[in-house]
Order: sequence, then structure tokens, then C-alpha cells
Amino acid sequence: MSTFKAPKGTYDLLPPASAEYLAVREAIAAPLRNSGYGYIETPGFENVELFARGVGESTDIVTKEMYVFETKGGDRLALRPETTAPVLRAVLEANLHKAGNLPVKVWYSGSQYRYERPQKGRYRHFSQVGAEAIGAEDPALDAELIILADQSYRALGLRNFRILLNSLGDKECRPVYRAALQDFLRGLDLDEETLRRAEINPLRVLDDKRPDVQKQLADAPLLRDYLCDACKTYHEEVRELITAAGVVFEDDPKLVRGLDYYTRTTFEFVHDGLGSQSAVGGGGRYDGLSEMIGGPSLPSVGWALGVDRTVLALEAEGIRLDIPSATSVFAVPLGEEARRILFAKVTELRKNGVAADFSYGGKGLKAAMKAANRSGARYALVLGERDLAEGVVQLKDMESGEQTAIGVNEIVAELESRLG
Ligand code: AMP
Repeated sequence: MSTFKAPKGTYDLLPPASAEYLAVREAIAAPLRNSGYGYIETPGFENVELFARGVGESTDIVTKEMYVFETKGGDRLALRPETTAPVLRAVLEANLHKAGNLPVKVWYSGSQYRYERPQKGRYRHFSQVGAEAIGAEDPALDAELIILADQSYRALGLRNFRILLNSLGDKECRPVYRAALQDFLRGLDLDEETLRRAEINPLRVLDDKRPDVQKQLADAPLLRDYLCDACKTYHEEVRELITAAGVVFEDDPKLVRGLDYYTRTTFEFVHDGLGSQSAVGGGGRYDGLSEMIGGPSLPSVGWALGVDRTVLALEAEGIRLDIPSATSVFAVPLGEEARRILFAKVTELRKNGVAADFSYGGKGLKAAMKAANRSGARYALVLGERDLAEGVVQLKDMESGEQTAIGVNEIVAELESRLG
């Protein structure tokens, strides 16, 4: 064992389990690719100010959870705690929004870093697949994203998740609500830090999980009673569109999220088998974010789904993804000449698109067949000295155990035909 360990709050993805993570990423990405979203990749770190302004100075993410560092050149950077602000920064920087084709629809996949207290489902390094639709105010776009996330989870076989939906209003109605909520919160028996939060960002107090706080919030004013007509109509249309698509959701009038930039549509996907870290994904509309980071007005909507927690949700539902074995053919040479011949055949098979692997390290027959078994290959090719003299190789069907001798020159054609 090395004297080093993975840093606290992180873990390594190792084969064979890592195949499941790749499959989850792919399952989330597939509906997006199918719906006009193009792939985007941004750096793992950004100017710290992008997050301070974009995510919000008063959020836990910015005040407590960012990995901030200063470069030798004196730049203050942060490992990205989320990717919406970076994506918007990249789109603005490249002027994609000016190409006359709004919304700009993009998806990403990558690591996020938050200095949180680690527990099951909550890590300091985790992975998200996300989607952003930038530059259009249209309830159908909000609906599209919710429907696509639902579709990804269903395609994975997940059933025990719920979609919570709320509207956070806009710059017309939210301030009125904010003031009413603040008045209400000032009358409660809250600790100093929570009172301070109530002054800076009262909506976040609604998210407080402590039972004594929740009890006091029972009669808190709700945003839905303060929504302006435009927000009400917008929200109603989102609800109608996702209902028509057969997506089941729950109205959650107290749903707020940990980032300041959300407006109007807000949603979270929660899974009931995950305990306290139950959110598997979430997102919403962020009409003001572009202006907050120095861009023009670009109403937008997006989500991020957590890959780590989606894998935990699969485990919780006892779902094993049907991941085909990576290797179809495993070659076992016995002796030096056999090694040269089979190595060339494996290379040829690979060039022809057949997934093939090879017994390395001069193993004997028994150890090599064990390796063939472990590889999950459907066929083994065994080439011994007697075969060599006869110009044949033994082709073993690892499922039926049946073994046939075929000509060395027929290997590629025979395997191609057998594997279809
Ligand atoms: P957020 O960016 O906070 O809206 O989170 C979106 C999704 O990312 C959540 O629903 C989780 O699935 C996942 N996520 C957020 N924080 C963590 C974390 N610390 N560890 C693992 N997954 C996380």
C-alpha cells in the first residue's frame, strides 16, 4: 500500500464499478444530445469573483465551501463549486449569444469541488452532468429540461424519486415577498446567525432543516401568494406542459435552493432511498445571472444532476445496470512464437472493432484462462505448440465451454461473424 490516501471527502472510481458511473453519465447525456444540446467544457477553476458574484456572497458555497487559492502570478482562483456561472461566462466570452440563435443550449459533465462536511452522498469532490439553455424566456424551455431529467432517471430504471417544483418570482414580486418574509422572521425566536441570514437572504432561512426552526416557519408567508401576474401565468404554463408530458411533480411552496441566482421556476429531484442527502439533482431559471456577471440580459434555465448520488439511488433501488462486458475476445498464447502471432491477431481484431485483450506476462494455461474468465470475454483464443505446428488455434466459447480448432488465418473473419 502507498503511504498516501485519497484526500478526505473524496473517493476513487475503480473498475469494474466505475463502468456504472460512465453509464449514468451517458444515460443523462443521451436525452440532451437528442434535444439540441451541444457539449461544452470549461476549466476546472475560474476567477473567484465569478462565483462570489454569480452564486452569491451570502451562500454557504461562497462563504464556506470554495477551494480558493492564489496563483504565483497573483490571480485569485477557485476550483469550481458549480458550473452554471462558468458556462454562462464562457458563452458570453465567445459571444455565442450573439450568433442569432437563442437559446444557446449546452450540456456539460465534470467534477465539482466543495469543502463540505463529508458524509454518505456528500463529498468534497463530486461529479455532475448539467444542462443550460441560455437566452430565452419560454415556459416550454423550463418544461423541456424537467422532462429530460425525468426521462434520464426513468431510462436508468429509477422510480422512487420525486420532483419538487416552485416559483421564486422575479425582480417585480420577489422583493415584496422578501420584505414580508423578513418581517415575519424578525418576530421569531432564532439564533444570531439565522437572524443575520434573515437580513441578507431571508429565503434561505426557509431551507433550514432544523426541526425547531421548521416548526416556527409553519405560518411563514409563501411566495406563491405574492407572485405577480406574469410569474403566475408563466408558472402555470410550466406546470401544464410537464403535466401534459406525463411527468408527475409535487408543488413545494417552500422550495428554495442554495444559490442566489434563481428566479421563477425552481425544482429539485429528490430520492427517497438516500437519507439526509436526498437531492439527486436540481435547477431552475436564472434570469438575472448574466447581468450579475457583467453580461446583457439573458434569461436562462438549467439543471445539474449529481452522478454520485444517482449511483447511490440505483443501489438504493437495487438496480444493476446492464453493462455489457468490455472485452469480447481474450487471447492466450503458450510460448514465444504463439505470443507474436496472437499479439498481431489481437491488434488486427481491435482494428476491426472487436474488443480484444491479451494474456500478458507469460502466464501458464491455468492462470491465463483465469484471466480470460475474469475479463468477461465471450471467446478465448488459445494457441499452444501443437496447434502452432498444425496452423490452427483453439477457439473456446466461454459460455458453453465448447472448443473448436480454426485456422489461424480465419481468426478475424470467424470472430467477426460469431460476434455479429
Ligand atoms: P447543486 O449544484 O447544489 O444544485 O447540486 C446539484 C446536485 O449535485 C445535487 O442534487 C446533488 O446530486 C449533487 N451534489 C451537490 N453537492 C454534492 C456533494 N457535496 N456531494 C455529492 N453530490 C453533490
